[in-house]
Amino acid sequence: MSSVVAHYREVRAALDAAAREALRDPSEIELLAVSKTFPAEAVRELYDAGIRKFGESRIPELAEKAAALPDDIEWHLIGRLQSNKARRAVQLAKVIHSVDSLALLERLDRIAGEEKKHPRILLEVNVSGEASKAGVPLRELEPLARRAVDCANLEFAGFMTMAPADAEPVKIAAIFELLRLTRDELEGKLRRKLPLLSMGMSGDFEIAARHGSTLVRVGTRIFGAR
Ligand SMILES: *Cc1c(COP(=O)(O)O)cnc(C)c1O
Repeated sequence: MSSVVAHYREVRAALDAAAREALRDPSEIELLAVSKTFPAEAVRELYDAGIRKFGESRIPELAEKAAALPDDIEWHLIGRLQSNKARRAVQLAKVIHSVDSLALLERLDRIAGEEKKHPRILLEVNVSGEASKAGVPLRELEPLARRAVDCANLEFAGFMTMAPADAEPVKIAAIFELLRLTRDELEGKLRRKLPLLSMGMSGDFEIAARHGSTLVRVGTRIFGAR
């Protein structure tokens, strides 16, 4: 077995164990293999083992890999999206995790209509409030979520966040828990299911699994250091 496939299975097993510890059904949590900076051949090894969901941060790299690999891969765009790349994002990605402004949301909705696509989108949330971090501050989330519900060409599915890399585990857990509670509250206010919570990376996916994540984005632990 190739080493990336072995690593993927190790991460999946650790994720399943963390889910069970929290009395969750492991099948509720998707594992997204984040292939950014690694070549298409590394993705192909996982593809040949049956893996179909991959995450990329940048549109040019996503476009290059999508062209080199089979069409039934489900690509997720997880990095910051510049407005001039919104059309390529809609054409290539099934899920866009990084919607962080009203302007971008409206642009994606319009383009999705033109392209006859219906991507799933997540609002990226800056839960910790650090000035340096991407994402919508918590206090601005409700108005943006209300607008997202009205986007006819987008499937607004939930939220994404990144915890600060150097934070203590209890702090990371608190961040994930706060986003989960905020999601629950908004589901009630908007009368709409928001099932996707994209939380957890190589360093913290087990914490995320214990605090409501339904999708973890793992790069380093599968593909190696970048
Ligand atoms: C790169 C990246 C990941 C994966 O990070 P690892 O620590 O390598 O697992 C997850 N989410 C986002 C948004 C990223 O940019």
